[in-house]
Amino acid sequence: MDNARLHAAAGAIRDAGLDALLVGPSADLRYLVGYDAHAMERLTLLVLSADGDAHLVLPELEAPAARASGAAELVELVAWTETEDPIAVVQRLLTRSGEPTAVAVSDRLYSVFTLRLQAALPGTAFRASGPVLGPLRIIKSPAEQQALRAAGAAIDAVHAAVPPLLRPGRTEAEVGRELSELILAEHDEVAFVIVGSGPNGASPHHAVSDRVLAPGDAVVVDIGGVRDGYCSDMTRNYVIGAPPERYAELHAVLASAQEAAVRAVAPGAIPAEIDRAARDVIADAGYGERFIHRTGHGIGIEVHEDPYIVATNTTPVAAGMAFSIEPGIYLPGRFGMRIEDIVLVTGTGVERVNHRPREVLVAG
Ligand code: ZN
Ligand code: ZN
Ligand code: ZN
Repeated sequence: MDNARLHAAAGAIRDAGLDALLVGPSADLRYLVGYDAHAMERLTLLVLSADGDAHLVLPELEAPAARASGAAELVELVAWTETEDPIAVVQRLLTRSGEPTAVAVSDRLYSVFTLRLQAALPGTAFRASGPVLGPLRIIKSPAEQQALRAAGAAIDAVHAAVPPLLRPGRTEAEVGRELSELILAEHDEVAFVIVGSGPNGASPHHAVSDRVLAPGDAVVVDIGGVRDGYCSDMTRNYVIGAPPERYAELHAVLASAQEAAVRAVAPGAIPAEIDRAARDVIADAGYGERFIHRTGHGIGIEVHEDPYIVATNTTPVAAGMAFSIEPGIYLPGRFGMRIEDIVLVTGTGVERVNHRPREVLVAG
């Protein structure tokens, strides 16, 4: 990692009329300096000033981990000991040429730190960092796009191994443990595992349970991992034996909804319209009320990040953005279904990073 991102962030700080950016342990910190710090009661804070001067204030005992991450090559480490007040350390750094007029704090900084920083800098306006860092993170560089393609191929390989795992008599949790191992074989970390069998599939963020799989079950499998710092996230639908009544026709509706939304993606497309492309197909089939979430979310070093593909988002998408297209239909008490692929906006259109078949897959 070079300091191009810190450079760009310093430029964004100046453009926003801010004196400094304060970034706690978060994806923003990983993005800027490559250090995966613990979010905890001891303060770790990147202090990046508008002129590009960068200090990482951190507990002394975390300094070896920060050095191992390579962050010390990009920023100056300022270690505080167990008896020092880290807020005073940050205050000293920020007031070297007078109290700043305005700073931005990272969206994920604990409020206990933000409140103490505000008390220490009573004349400083505090803003959120989202509008400063968001525009940098939302456009993926060619290397980041390549990482997302590799993560996509990794989760494709895991889904290819799913059908024989879904056997009657096994629990969702047993299948989930095996899926975690398969995800780890292709990734560095497991991000999440959803095995929603039968009625559990109707809860979009159901994880796993002790429910025992049985013939006639529809099963939603939504899984993701982290590979070289970038996330995968992909959903397919499986049936054990014969599908439930109306399942096949609904799944065909869902597949055309997903296809319509993917086809609506191009540079300049409006997220609200991408969302509507999927929603209209499901509504026309009479199930509009059963599609109970947005169509997609951005993805990168976080599973959920900007841009959100939702009816309220009217900011056009642009080449280099990456997000999911994942319409779903949920029938409470019966079953659910969701088809999810990650797509990249290219210079002229769209590229999927997931390639497994999108029809109902027979398991067991
Ligand atoms: Zn989700
Ligand atoms: Zn998902
Ligand atoms: Zn997703």
